Amino acid sequence: MGGRVDDPSNMSATTSSEIMPVPAPKSSPLHIVIVGGGLGGLTLAVALGKAGVKVDLFEQSPAFAQIGAGIHLGPNTIRALRLLGLGEEYDAAGETEEGGGLFFEWWDGRTDKKYGETFTKYPRSSCHRARLLEALLRGMPSNVQAHFSTRVNGVESVGNKARLKYTASRKGAQGGEGPSEEGFIDADVIVGADGVKSVIRTALQLPSPKHAFPSIEGKELPPASYRYTGTYCYRGLVPMDKAKSIDPQDQTVTNSVAVDRMWFAPNSHILTFPIEQGKILNVVAFISDRSKPKDQRFFDGPWVKPVSHETLMNDFKDYHEHPRRLLELFDDFGHQQWALHEVMSPLTWRKGRITLLGDSAHASLPHNGAGAGQAIEDSYVLTRLLSHPECTPDNVEEFLQAYEDVRKPRTSLSSYTRSRLERCTSLHRPSVTTWRR
Ligand SMILES: Cc1cc2nc3c(=O)[nH]c(=O)nc-3n(C[C@H](O)[C@H](O)[C@H](O)COP(=O)(O)OP(=O)(O)OC[C@H]3O[C@@H](n4cnc5c(N)ncnc54)[C@H](O)[C@@H]3O)c2cc1C
Repeated sequence: MGGRVDDPSNMSATTSSEIMPVPAPKSSPLHIVIVGGGLGGLTLAVALGKAGVKVDLFEQSPAFAQIGAGIHLGPNTIRALRLLGLGEEYDAAGETEEGGGLFFEWWDGRTDKKYGETFTKYPRSSCHRARLLEALLRGMPSNVQAHFSTRVNGVESVGNKARLKYTASRKGAQGGEGPSEEGFIDADVIVGADGVKSVIRTALQLPSPKHAFPSIEGKELPPASYRYTGTYCYRGLVPMDKAKSIDPQDQTVTNSVAVDRMWFAPNSHILTFPIEQGKILNVVAFISDRSKPKDQRFFDGPWVKPVSHETLMNDFKDYHEHPRRLLELFDDFGHQQWALHEVMSPLTWRKGRITLLGDSAHASLPHNGAGAGQAIEDSYVLTRLLSHPECTPDNVEEFLQAYEDVRKPRTSLSSYTRSRLERCTSLHRPSVTTWRR
């Protein structure tokens, strides 16, 4: 991820007295199907379940799983979790500095000179992804039924219901893979929380935003989809005692690896922040190629692929020995390149009773550390609406439209601040020098 954005619009969500917690459970007449058990789908499932709504969740993997990496959550996300009644679970999993404080230290990657620091007065929080997953699972109510190893193939509207089609893999007699089983389920609402490659978004054939295709002026726009951003990254977790050893003589370095920090250089940056009560340093190292226009960046091959240690070190060969020593400490997990893709968020997220949430609707580069946060905010708003006493199977489409009306501008703003930050952190914008002391 990248640095969080403490812009005033983000903060409004933390201060508005009009924001209400999700009401105490009552019996809801709705039945909701969620596709995808990532942080977005899982948060929505737990929140809806707690609000008394019957939920079926379909996940293609055999279990809920999170990669071993850290995550930053902004103040609005923490607020959304608390309003969803998941505050206690989160507080046990993550570390939040309620009064804010040092937000980031900014360092030149090539010279290891400090540009400066930024501070925030708002709560700041980080967490191990696995702990966040555990926290959400602890809050899972019994009216949520999870269907694992079940891949969703498509959706359609059938009368006043939405229909989901799936293929479930069954275990064979020896515990291996057995025969698969085709099936369908009807629901009042289907929510596609199935990530960047979303089958649900593809099935809905939603219209693309015109601005995403500057190079195809005059031609017909394809349906909204995803594309390569031109950026890949390496992610690693380094034990803090080892991280601090990158230069035992240099107190500046040893102290500051323990705070949130960014080293940057043209077309690249390295981000670090502590997790697990400061015992682990989360490190993400980004490389960007902006030589082609946005709609002409293509990527072939697996999005996550193992690479050699030399490849990693060669990508940061112009960096100072301090950040390079940190990369030397990467474990095997850090020797994987992650090609980062974004979703050209469709003009509308909804068709009838089927809608999108999280990355499937609005994935973008992680430079403002807000993708999961936005998915959690989506979950809060959608839960508030679907558990509203006046929401029924007959009028639910109006509530889904209200969800989109609230969330679309908000997530677009988040993508916009992310792209501004990206130009700064990879020095794509000369004005970044104005940050220097
Ligand atoms: C390097 C990096 C750092 C990041 N750091 C941060 C950060 O610090 N803070 C932050 O807020 N965000 C961060 N993000 C973004 C964040 O990780 C994502 O925005 C978030 O995880 C998206 O969650 P999701 O549930 O929408 O999608 P996903 O996590 O992609 O989940 C989708 C789920 O759907 C399942 N699925 C897919 N297709 C099907 C199908 N056909 N049938 C059944 N199941 C299916 C998948 O198996 C998966 O479990 C970062 C991202 C990256 C790449």
